[in-house]
Amino acid sequence: MPGTILRVGLATPLPRLFDYALPATGDGEAIPARGQRVIVPFGKTTRTGIVAQITDGTEIPADRLRRIIRIVDAEPLLDDTTMALLEWAADYYHHPVGEVFAAALPATLRRGGALDATETVWCATADGLAADSASLARRAPVQSRVLDSVCRSPDGADATALEPAGATWRTAAQKLVAKGLVRCAERRTGIDHEPLATPEPAPTPTDAQQTAIDTLNATSGYGAFLLEGITGSGKTEVYLRCVAQQLERGRQSLLLVPEIGLTPQLVDRFRRRLNTPIAVLHSGLNDTARLAAWRAARDGSAGVIIGTRSAVFTPLARPGFIVVDEEHDASLKQQDGFRYSARDLAVWRARQLDIPVVLGSATPSFESLDNVAAGRYTKLRLPSRPGAARRPGIRLIDLRVQPAKDGLTEPLRRAIGRHLDDDGQVLLYLNRRGFAPAMLCTGCGQLVECSRCDARLVFHQRRSRLICHHCGAEHAVPTECAACHAPDLLPVGQGTERLEQALQALYGEHGIVRIDRDTTRRKGEIERRLESVRSGEARILLGTQMLTKGHDFPNVTMVGIIDADQGLFGTDFRSSERLAQSFIQVAGRTGRGDRPGEVFIQTLFPDHPLLNTLVADGYESFAAAALAERRAAHWPPYSCLALARAEAGQRATAFAFLEDARNLAATLIETGRYSGVRWLGPAAAPMERRAGRYRGQLLIQADSRAQIQRFLAAWRPALDTLKSARNARWSVDVDPVELF
Ligand code: ADP
Ligand code: ZN
Repeated sequence: MPGTILRVGLATPLPRLFDYALPATGDGEAIPARGQRVIVPFGKTTRTGIVAQITDGTEIPADRLRRIIRIVDAEPLLDDTTMALLEWAADYYHHPVGEVFAAALPATLRRGGALDATETVWCATADGLAADSASLARRAPVQSRVLDSVCRSPDGADATALEPAGATWRTAAQKLVAKGLVRCAERRTGIDHEPLATPEPAPTPTDAQQTAIDTLNATSGYGAFLLEGITGSGKTEVYLRCVAQQLERGRQSLLLVPEIGLTPQLVDRFRRRLNTPIAVLHSGLNDTARLAAWRAARDGSAGVIIGTRSAVFTPLARPGFIVVDEEHDASLKQQDGFRYSARDLAVWRARQLDIPVVLGSATPSFESLDNVAAGRYTKLRLPSRPGAARRPGIRLIDLRVQPAKDGLTEPLRRAIGRHLDDDGQVLLYLNRRGFAPAMLCTGCGQLVECSRCDARLVFHQRRSRLICHHCGAEHAVPTECAACHAPDLLPVGQGTERLEQALQALYGEHGIVRIDRDTTRRKGEIERRLESVRSGEARILLGTQMLTKGHDFPNVTMVGIIDADQGLFGTDFRSSERLAQSFIQVAGRTGRGDRPGEVFIQTLFPDHPLLNTLVADGYESFAAAALAERRAAHWPPYSCLALARAEAGQRATAFAFLEDARNLAATLIETGRYSGVRWLGPAAAPMERRAGRYRGQLLIQADSRAQIQRFLAAWRPALDTLKSARNARWSVDVDPVELF
């Protein structure tokens, strides 16, 4: 057989590597190393792949073995440890390894682009700097704005900087080039923001912070820690101190956060405090910026890398420390395609790199609490808030006794008034956007449903639409009921849009700002809105889940949870964990400054044991009780799950696959080689029909990771061979965080 064989990972759904020979140029040809990119022929097209193995044999007959077209990189793009991490992840999540490699690369590199790619920037010429842009403004406003931006950027302005000048900025820039006012240049993108010459001073740590910092800094080699502390207890301060210590040792730190768009303050805080370039990686970046950040992490020029879940795969030149902030957050788990948990992989990576990892949360996931109980993680606790701020008191308002008007009960209104009079700020949480979650026909009692989903349409008043929040379908508001033709359709229930309207009528003069997906679609809008709260211009803040994530509002003295009851009786075994986490997270937005906060929860079920444990004894007691229930019911973390999901236009098609999958599981388990593994289902998904497709699922459960992995290794590849697998869209999710 022909000498060297390269085994290449390609982004295809086929779960294997592809063998290729070297180019035919003969002796002296360089052999690419593991982790290097190559361009290969694939079918009738070409693809960019990553060399995973170099061997000297292949099962492909010589006449069918193809040669790589060329080597892309002069050196491996992904170092050996990063490759090993990706291979392990592909194996554990049973996802095609080539797709996993691709997921680890910025888009431009995935497409075969150069690591050293440059981007075009526009610079002012001497004439440009001297030109009178004001006179230009009258005749050619876009040109004038482009010229202004260019003059303000001594290093040149890139596309992102010029886009705000107007949709036709490119043409305008060309005209300015023709006039000799502007010239183009190629620049190797760096990461923005030079570190500050004089970083902001750090506050003196509290005793608890100091203990945590000392423990983490004294850890040489692997160690996993859970940093549990209520919001505002100073967890970020602990990260900052440890990251600074790592910088002194010449090591990089990787900080994973659920969503950066929602927490621009966090990145700012790191920038103000640390004397190092910071690479920020998240989905909102354009390709060049993303590549630049990735490169800075890989070549070691960035001392800190802050990113969302896929940043866990970033190659690091000198890794020293990993942080997973808000480790309980479900968005750390990728929910489609390659379904990995960034938190779990971060811990694996820390072990592999032999460095410490800290998971931080005010409301730790049950998995992490169990890891502490089992001695796998060390718990570090920050019990109180620095300074005088105290933990907020929580009170329940019984909606059966205190009827709500426009979502607000009398006691809640009184409290809002009191806090406004006292110069406080008020935060109201309602996890439902739109005006009203349902439209009711007062004639026949029917609710208007989505024709493609098992769901009601949500009324959006400002846009005057009925919208399905599951498939996105939009309809004009009907003038009559489709069933009985009565003309009286009534919006029922509360959404944030309606609540905002009610608040405007009552407290309009105090400034009200709503934060949800509808009000923050435009770029920069969330920052603008958060700023109006921080500046005190807005005194009442209302919004959805988006408010529960990491924002710092020192003057919020009161939090109201408008409706505690969605989720109280959820179908997922995790619903109560989720609910408790979001309550404690919103409650934590208050009492951060030097004033204690007050929290009110409106509910129809004030006797509900979950609410009571949570209110009376706090999250830890709640978690202890709920974990005992999980143990009794054999749910994670006391068992391991994998979920096969299937959907198809016909219910029978989806279920044919799931039943075949179930039969396959049964056959495997009957061999006696997979003890401890069982299945549940197949069953309809909680929302069976979505976007016109029927959805079902089959749950696999095992007592241990080893058992479920051994089973999946046999079962997962066999699913590909099922005939019914070709007709349904399906996937297997290992360690699912959401059961639908
Ligand atoms: P968390 O990350 O747990 O929410 P932060 O680290 O953001 O907490 O701290 C909350 C607030 O308290 C921040 O404004 C921070 O600057 C301040 N802070 C934290 N630690 C201290 C300290 N030791 N002394 C004074 N202020 C502190
Ligand atoms: Zn729908």
